[in-house]
Amino acid sequence: MKTVSILGSTGSIGTQALEVAKMHKISVRALAAHSNAELLCAQAREFVAEYVCIFDENKAKDVRDNLFGSKIKVLTGDEGLSQIANLDVDVMLNSIVGIAGLVPTLEGISHGTDIALANKETLVTGGSIVMSEAKKKGVKILPVDSEHSAIFQCLRGNDSRQVSKILLTASGGPFFGYTKEKLKSVTKEQALRHPNWSMGSKITIDSATLMNKGLEFIEAMRLFDLQPGQIEIIVHRESVLHSAVEYNDGSVIGQMGAPDMKIPIQYALLYPERLPCPAKRLSLTDYGTLTFAKPDLETFDCLSSCIQAAKQGGIMPTVVNGANEEAVKLFLADKIKFYQIGEFVKGALEAFENRSVNSVSDILRADKEARLYVRDNA
Ligand code: NAD
Ligand code: MG
Repeated sequence: MKTVSILGSTGSIGTQALEVAKMHKISVRALAAHSNAELLCAQAREFVAEYVCIFDENKAKDVRDNLFGSKIKVLTGDEGLSQIANLDVDVMLNSIVGIAGLVPTLEGISHGTDIALANKETLVTGGSIVMSEAKKKGVKILPVDSEHSAIFQCLRGNDSRQVSKILLTASGGPFFGYTKEKLKSVTKEQALRHPNWSMGSKITIDSATLMNKGLEFIEAMRLFDLQPGQIEIIVHRESVLHSAVEYNDGSVIGQMGAPDMKIPIQYALLYPERLPCPAKRLSLTDYGTLTFAKPDLETFDCLSSCIQAAKQGGIMPTVVNGANEEAVKLFLADKIKFYQIGEFVKGALEAFENRSVNSVSDILRADKEARLYVRDNA
């Protein structure tokens, strides 16, 4: 039986991971969440966790009161997250949203723990440091993002030096086919309605702006050590082909499945085992037709800005990520319009001078500056 810890257990990925844990009797040693005290406590009791961390210190009392009389130890803040990341477990699932996931990922790696990584912002901002630390420590980074799980699966049993490129699929989001003009009248409710996936609000907005695909472009470069020219983004509305790898001989190997995150979550948690999964089976005949198209880089500024940032390297991926995190926050708080998210991301890319990244503090500083840029201009 494997033992795991789950950072971000109350979110969309975290709750689905717990369904997987329940089915396979995976032992859950620790859980962490930002502020949803009630759900965190209910999860800790159900899975008989040893530790919980509620990041928001204002909620720590609620959690302590709720868990009074149990043996569950309650932690809080950055210190608490760090303690959780330093526990002995077989796999640490990081499903925190945003750059807040970066430091816990690095702490888990330095403790020598394999990481099931949903938090793509970790690799976008700190990818080069994360991958080299993981290599040094002999730690596996097991991708949870469905596209990256697909690529990871398509690489198994093959020589990665013989890869010519990868095909990164994208659903296209709810505004596929829109013009820039049409994006101006998009509402929050429309942006929060994703055609194929039910996810946390930040990634749902990222999927509507295509920022998500831009982040995944950078995530793929870091995870699989690719050049920007080796990644082709393909809009595939049905989200059935989760991505594919083209080899030197022209052979393309893809991974398909029902659009259900429990499949890649389980693959990462149980790797390399394949056991029955609590997800729907794929019926290709129910679909009948699968479609493929080129992405619209003219309309979706976030995607083109991420590709640009990927080519530039240095702090630029962190800059576009930080500007986006701040802009999405403002959009969800009804402070800016949907189309302005793209304008801020593009604006930040143009406004910042590139610098090299040598440490985590270089990344955190660039993140702070990018957020400030958005706040100052909103
Ligand atoms: P979500 O908003 O539903 O959940 C986020 C979780 O992180 C919550 O449990 C929240 O409490 C926790 N959290 C946030 N800040 C924290 C902090 N400082 N300390 C501790 N916990 C904190 O988000 P989600 O949709 O589950 O996505 C999580 C991550 O996985 C994101 O990086 C997202 O891009 C990635 N991802 C999600 C999906 C999906 O289908 N939802 C698919 C692929 C990748
Ligand atoms: Mg994805």
